Amino acid sequence: MANEANNFQELISHCKEYGYIFQSSEIYDGLSAVYDYGQLGAQLKKNLRDEWWKSMTQMHENIVGIDAAIFMHPTVWKASGHVDNFSDPMIDNKDSNKRYRVDHLIEGHAEELGQDGKKEEEYALLKSMDELLAKDDFAGLKTLIETNNIKCSVSKTCNWTDVRQFNLMFKTEFGAVASDNPEDNIVYLRPETAQGIFVNFLNVQKTGRMKIPFGIAQTGKAFRNEIVARQFIFRMREFEQMEMQFFVRPGTQMEWYQYWQNARIAWHQSIGIPAEKLRFHDHVKLAHYADAALDIEFEFPFGWKELEGIHSRTDFDLTQHAKFSKKKIQYFDNDLNEEGKPYGNYTPYVVETSVGLDRLFLTVISLAYAEEKWNKEDGTEDSRVVLRIPAKIAPTKLAILPLLKKDGLPEIARQLMNDCKGSFMCFYEEKDAIGKRYRRMDAIGTPFCVTIDHQTKEDNTVTIRYRDDMRQERIALSEVKNLVLSKL
Ligand code: ATP
Repeated sequence: MANEANNFQELISHCKEYGYIFQSSEIYDGLSAVYDYGQLGAQLKKNLRDEWWKSMTQMHENIVGIDAAIFMHPTVWKASGHVDNFSDPMIDNKDSNKRYRVDHLIEGHAEELGQDGKKEEEYALLKSMDELLAKDDFAGLKTLIETNNIKCSVSKTCNWTDVRQFNLMFKTEFGAVASDNPEDNIVYLRPETAQGIFVNFLNVQKTGRMKIPFGIAQTGKAFRNEIVARQFIFRMREFEQMEMQFFVRPGTQMEWYQYWQNARIAWHQSIGIPAEKLRFHDHVKLAHYADAALDIEFEFPFGWKELEGIHSRTDFDLTQHAKFSKKKIQYFDNDLNEEGKPYGNYTPYVVETSVGLDRLFLTVISLAYAEEKWNKEDGTEDSRVVLRIPAKIAPTKLAILPLLKKDGLPEIARQLMNDCKGSFMCFYEEKDAIGKRYRRMDAIGTPFCVTIDHQTKEDNTVTIRYRDDMRQERIALSEVKNLVLSKL
């Protein structure tokens, strides 16, 4: 069966083998929780991003897109609460003064247990750690370290401080100007794209003459020095978000919160994610800025996990930026007058939808991956690995395959390639037996293959082969382009 947890390692290897995802800086043994997208991965990621962008901006008259810089004024992160609140736990050894991230310390010990053949203890320890981290139970984490007698690698003692918070933001220095206070030059790599939208609220509202309710959408890189960075591209230190902040009248936020829950889950289904693999999960513990929040969860190969967050962020962010920048950030609502209510300036409330592009990629690819076996008519077994990526987001739509490298077949194939490549991604291949080429196209997820053979020269027909059911049929060469377009 495909899509089970034990296929997850195979999926990761498959992604590498077929040019979807590589470990970052692999020739230097990689960089933890950072990945590069290869030739097919980059295209699939772009297709997903484009679908999202279209659904937000093109399909909603009142949503516009921006592209804010990754670097932002450091005060942005003070105002947003990230400097004070965006953190994970760490611990110090009192004898050596060495500081550890709590998860690294525990994971190191778990790995040693595993190497000693104590696999069950290893898994139990990691499970307890994940549970305590999820609950922010710092006292419990310290007790876990002590009861497992986890020692500092330098002092070899178990003399630990209390567990404290570790900020997840990456810092870097900005410019070359020396300052007496090194903190003056510090900038952060943004941990979320949302703040680039908040600080541009007035710019966009005024220049775009936007009327509330309206949204601002953005896609882009975000960076988090994540503590538990496992599970492939599920949790990365550099990743991409697709966020939309929807600005509404105070008091209407719950209506819009409801609207966006429904709209977003419907969108996920529209790109081929089955309804039974998606569910809502209400947040029990609300972030400091939210009056309601939920996750859209997907059943990943390693369990139900967050794919997208929908948050009702109140007027927290705009109010904070007004306070820290000492600028008035308000909206003048003309429509209130028409409704018989007094004119009003107010700080809009915000409903946010925030989905990780890499997590969406993992969702799509883990659903698509299948290892299939069947019996042929002669009784022998056949098998294939196939990526059943929906045609509309598949990186390559059509493979054009001349049966032989001679007899004028490549020329006809090239002509078809030229006709189609302006409309969708095509792939041309003339090497290897046709069966082998089909298998390779299955493995990279190409939904349609067209074979040009000697009959094509006689009657201008080709064989089209469908990836999902491996069905083949004869159609007119002139129909190929429209047939593929109709399936997208
Ligand atoms: P989690 O609880 O899994 O850490 P989060 O609640 O911190 O996620 P948000 O801050 O709501 O995540 O970010 C919005 C979206 O960004 C998430 O739903 C997820 O898809 C994506 N995301 C967040 N952190 C990461 C990461 N480290 N790697 C990949 N995607 C991420």
